[in-house]
Amino acid sequence: MAEIEVPVLIVGGSLVGMSTALLLGRHGIRPLVVEHHRGTAIHPRAAMITQRTMEIFRTVGVEQIVMEKSDEQFVQDGAIMAVETLAGKELAWFIANLNEGVRDVSPSLRLFITQSLLEPVLKERAEELGAELRFATEMISFAEYADGIAAQIRHRDTGKTDTVRAKYMVAADGAHSRIRERLGIRMLGHGVFSKSITIYFRGDVGPLLRGRNLSVMYVVNSTLSGFFRIEKPFTSGFLAVHWLGDPKNPVTDVSAGLTNERALELLYAGLGTREVPVTIENVMHWDAMADSAERFRQGRVFLAGDAAHVMPPSGGFGGNTGVQDAHNLAWKLAMVLKGEAGPELLSTYEHERQPASSFTVEQAYSRYVTRSAPYLKSDKMQAIQNDLNIELGYCYHSSAVIPDKDERGLPHDHPRETKARPGTRAPHLELERNGRKLSTLDLFRENFVLLAAPQGEAWCDAARAAAKRLKLDIDVHQIGAAGLIDPSGSFSEAYGITPKGAVLVRPDGFVAWRAKDAAGASAKTLVSVMSSILTPTRAESSLRAEKSRA
Ligand SMILES: Cc1cc2nc3c(=O)[nH]c(=O)nc-3n(C[C@H](O)[C@H](O)[C@H](O)COP(=O)(O)OP(=O)(O)OC[C@H]3O[C@@H](n4cnc5c(N)ncnc54)[C@H](O)[C@@H]3O)c2cc1C
Repeated sequence: MAEIEVPVLIVGGSLVGMSTALLLGRHGIRPLVVEHHRGTAIHPRAAMITQRTMEIFRTVGVEQIVMEKSDEQFVQDGAIMAVETLAGKELAWFIANLNEGVRDVSPSLRLFITQSLLEPVLKERAEELGAELRFATEMISFAEYADGIAAQIRHRDTGKTDTVRAKYMVAADGAHSRIRERLGIRMLGHGVFSKSITIYFRGDVGPLLRGRNLSVMYVVNSTLSGFFRIEKPFTSGFLAVHWLGDPKNPVTDVSAGLTNERALELLYAGLGTREVPVTIENVMHWDAMADSAERFRQGRVFLAGDAAHVMPPSGGFGGNTGVQDAHNLAWKLAMVLKGEAGPELLSTYEHERQPASSFTVEQAYSRYVTRSAPYLKSDKMQAIQNDLNIELGYCYHSSAVIPDKDERGLPHDHPRETKARPGTRAPHLELERNGRKLSTLDLFRENFVLLAAPQGEAWCDAARAAAKRLKLDIDVHQIGAAGLIDPSGSFSEAYGITPKGAVLVRPDGFVAWRAKDAAGASAKTLVSVMSSILTPTRAESSLRAEKSRA
């Protein structure tokens, strides 16, 4: 039995575990990932990738390759609509073109790529960035000590058991998280409302699309309710089935006693024709639910992805929300592990991600009810909000954000309205440098970033001096100066400040604080801002000491 020492142990190496490894790697932390399966995903599973996830992939240099892989599998900009059957009547168009009306808010686009194609890309980049991935390896037990976690891992084939000592552990072990269970953390919400299935099939269904560019096709008819997703060259795909029969008296356990013959019948009922020969490749059984964990953290263990929240696939938010968890957690763990922040920073993971993901869970539930299961309709259901509020407009309120004086505490907002309010994603604005176009988002890398408006040099000087005093890297950019051109001249307006103001952005691209003008532009101000975010306990005690000296 070997003893392995790592800064972070990630349990589960699927979409979220792999993303966590990738993002930690980008911050110079080399985690160990253990994954029960023998390799990356073999089934397509999640495919809808939001602009936010693509922005995150952009920061780690895989956006381009993900776009290329997506092109291999899907026609871009497809619609999301409802039909009685694939061959039959159209019922509703929810989104006519996946990227219509959203291109201005981000340098990145929404797209579809299945997990079977995406995960190998993430794996390769995570390894390049220093992560160690062990497949066919299970985490079988763990204990927490004052200074870390000790976990037993076992290779499934050889039976070899090792002990991993880690400072922190990320439970990315999916909806049935054994880690969450072992910690006694309950899931709260709507519970299981369907025992659903996904039927993976092959067959030349292209002609049934009748030239329509469709990404997701919801199916509602007298036999079933579910949805299709079909891959290029339109000879394979899946039908997910949520319930059967009469919507007034639906059979919500589709899984029990399901035979291959019955699955084939359901597939034909979804296609609306028996003329197309189809074969079933596989059937997956899963629970449709809309729940969030009551805690996202216990001691040194953090829940991420489906381990922390489970939602129905309506909207395609589940995996994306998990990637956002990883993005929020990675920089915090990295700064704490490097001694740049106090451990209190880690509490903000739960304070920020739990409300954001609960909102997303409820929105996915409302979409499920509206699109697939009207019989679940109730007054308690959240009103459906704009997709962009969910994908880009979730707002954080925690000690890692210093709000404006007139902060309204909104849980979400439209990304065209957030205007760099602290706690929101810093907006995309197209800039130019050396004749090349870039986004403001491309300026956010591993460090905190100070973006100053065109006359905000006082803040630039203050940030450089504060960085020296804190012995911390802060990237400083004056927009509209030093070769960084703002062609539209709208930076100040887009970031809600005057031409002498500045905005401090966290490594995850969220605004930490802003100064609307030059008042108070000093290293002292920025040292105090950074300290209250990174070392709040020390910041408070030094403030108390200063006060008592005064
Ligand atoms: C039909 C369908 C369509 C969907 N479509 C979309 C979509 O378009 N977009 C989207 O964003 N989401 C979608 N989702 C949701 C998405 O699939 C999930 O949210 C996402 O896969 C969760 O990823 P995860 O890494 O958190 O968990 P999982 O994918 O469940 O991975 C957990 C991993 O942990 C491993 N593991 C568990 N315990 C251990 C252990 N003790 N030791 C080692 N390894 C362990 C497991 O083997 C597993 O690989 C869809 C879901 C369904 C069912």
